[in-house]
Amino acid sequence: MAFVLPSLPYAFNALEPHIDARTMEIHHGKHHQAYVNNANNALAGTALAAADAATVCRSLRDVPADKMTVVRNNAGGHWNHSLFWEVMAPPSAGGGGRPGGALLAAIEQAFGSFDGAGGFKEKFAAAAAGRFGSGWAWLCVQPGGKVEICSTANQDNPLMKNAIGDAAGCGGAPILGLDVWEHAYYLHYQNRRPDYVSAWWNVVNWGKVGELYAKAK
Ligand code: MN
Repeated sequence: MAFVLPSLPYAFNALEPHIDARTMEIHHGKHHQAYVNNANNALAGTALAAADAATVCRSLRDVPADKMTVVRNNAGGHWNHSLFWEVMAPPSAGGGGRPGGALLAAIEQAFGSFDGAGGFKEKFAAAAAGRFGSGWAWLCVQPGGKVEICSTANQDNPLMKNAIGDAAGCGGAPILGLDVWEHAYYLHYQNRRPDYVSAWWNVVNWGKVGELYAKAK
């Protein structure tokens, strides 16, 4: 079955003032739609035409060589953005704050603290700020439940590890992704990526990330 653009789970303006409505409208309706269309066109007629996006990302080595790059970029783009919309929520609907339960324990074990000096938020923001050019910062789960931060370029993601090696970052199961392409923030923040990252913490849906952690570990 061909990929379909998922509906946003909130209104375009629901994440304001942290992410503006116009950015969300273009990001979801134009950028994400283009990844869906381009991936569908490239995968049509291949053995992966009916696979879900995660399977395609994990199976890039099975994509015909002449379509590998376009599938990497666009099936990757589709999977990454589908996660991105899900792990955000308006502050009025649970966005922001802190994780709890097993996820908080895993974060504290891996990084010392959630939001203390040198802790998780600082390290994740540094991964986002330090990604040169376009890409993503990720929080991933390794087998056994250990969490790890990494970043990838373009629309690469950790699911692609067996096909693209170190370009896939840590290779764990991503449970939180932050888009640091300029299209994600430039209208409102221009070149101030760190300001976008600081504001983004206000809309992270930790309830959803906790669910993904429970499933992934
Ligand atoms: Mn994007």
